[in-house]
Amino acid sequence: MHKAVVIGAGIAGIAVAIRLAVKGYQVEVFEANSYPGGKLSTFEQDGFRFDAGPSLFTMPHLVDDLFKLADRDPADYFRYRPLTNVCNYFFPDGIEIHGKGNPKDFAAEVKTKLGVPEKVILDYFNRSEMKYRKTKGVFLERSLHKFGTYLKKDTIIGIFNLYRLGLFHSLAQENEKRLKHPKLVQLFNRYATYNGSNPYSTPGIMSMIPHLEHGVGAAFPVGGMHAITESLVKLSKDLGVRYRLSQRVERIVVERGRAKGVQIKGNLAEADLVVSNVDIYAVYRKLMPEQKAPERILMHERSSSALIYYWGIDPFGANGASAADTQGPFSKLDLHNIFFSSNYEREFREIFEEGTVGDDPTVYINITSKYEPQDAPGGMQNWFVMVNVPSNQGQDWEHLRRHTRQCVINKISSMLRVELESHIVTENYLDPVRIEERTGSYQGALYGASSNDRMAAFFRHANFSRRIRDLYFCGGSVHPGGGIPLCLLSAKIVSDLVGPSAGSMAAGS
Ligand code: FAD
Repeated sequence: MHKAVVIGAGIAGIAVAIRLAVKGYQVEVFEANSYPGGKLSTFEQDGFRFDAGPSLFTMPHLVDDLFKLADRDPADYFRYRPLTNVCNYFFPDGIEIHGKGNPKDFAAEVKTKLGVPEKVILDYFNRSEMKYRKTKGVFLERSLHKFGTYLKKDTIIGIFNLYRLGLFHSLAQENEKRLKHPKLVQLFNRYATYNGSNPYSTPGIMSMIPHLEHGVGAAFPVGGMHAITESLVKLSKDLGVRYRLSQRVERIVVERGRAKGVQIKGNLAEADLVVSNVDIYAVYRKLMPEQKAPERILMHERSSSALIYYWGIDPFGANGASAADTQGPFSKLDLHNIFFSSNYEREFREIFEEGTVGDDPTVYINITSKYEPQDAPGGMQNWFVMVNVPSNQGQDWEHLRRHTRQCVINKISSMLRVELESHIVTENYLDPVRIEERTGSYQGALYGASSNDRMAAFFRHANFSRRIRDLYFCGGSVHPGGGIPLCLLSAKIVSDLVGPSAGSMAAGS
């Protein structure tokens, strides 16, 4: 049986371990942290449970696929509920829009709240779906770096349609043309942040993302986002994958042009195949600094990062809300909530051009205790409050974190007419520096390289090494990109590139 070593137990590392185990490999995963999951992890504080990183779960079928691949019933490991209301949007002038999951319901809501004909939204979603279908084969599901990809029929169709699909204008221009109403344009510009990009420069092709949320559908994992990690780790262990936690890989050992294994605490762990789930910048700079690095790829602009405030909230707080109102002043809030800034263009200029955070950021609040009451004690709520910020280029994060915290509290207090500060009973935070320390992501970027230009897809590293045999790459910093679904697809692409293990059933022995 051939042996595969995976470096890093992020979601892509876990997924690739499962796929390789199914292919018949003996798989060992080395993880620097004492826990698996990387960004997709959890922690508890004073009785509150928080998902540390991702909160929005789209394309849940990609998780199901892993259980099915292993011939298991997904329901034995992992369950999720489709969201009928994806997100509540709050605008500074008091308008509130419920982002219903079903496009027809969403269109009806937009008509009621903004007076925009339903057809405008439904046409937009139809185009969004068309873009997804025409490009997924080219940009998401296969290696962009293998000649064979360009011989496939759907690749050829995708490439011929690039102009029509919006590769040559920005997402903001696309939305202004199709949606016109400034609030709708802002709402749909927000999808650029799903891969940490700027809507005023990322290409219009990104308008496929709403289809993933409202067509394919968004879901909430039972037990919270961390259930994705837990269930996949369990599956992988059932398939014989071994995890070596708190084991930081120091080197990828290369001999005569092939990856021979990895070095940990000076010792060699030999393997027939090495898959790195580590940020590609750190791979070249730290794990194999003697190898020639693809500088253009490594120096490509990073995606945005985030400031996250984890707040345990007592809805009844110091000043008390009416006991008759079971959720206090926060009854308007759902699982996902967005409080928009008054000037979106300025906000993204501040992030991507000025490298800072302004006084009026868009604020995202995720509250899993709305669905899982046990995530917060005694009827309280676990708030994950996030603001998009630039990646770390040496800014004074201590100052930015304190200043932004106050701006967020002022904004939410005024928009919900509460004194928010008096409701916070416990708190913690995450910033770009901590993200890099805890996951190795260069500059604390959430999604690897940004997609702020039309060639961005080609500036992501391939899922294999061109110079070193038996060395592969998965995760948010390589093709096809960041976010849980794309990380899962990167694991599939790697597995498709790798042959079956000799001795496995797949190899025919
Ligand atoms: P990572 O999670 O980056 O993990 C890499 C692992 O490698 C880490 O565990 C690290 O410890 C380990 N490692 C690094 N170096 C070594 C070494 N030398 N030896 C051994 N191990 C090593 N995505 C969504 O889909 N929806 C969201 O709502 C969303 N929101 C997000 C919010 C936040 C705050 C963050 C941080 C991310 C968010 N994302 C979201 C992005 C998503 O979390 C990531 O794209 C995805 O989880 C990255 O997974 P990965 O496989 O690349 O590995």
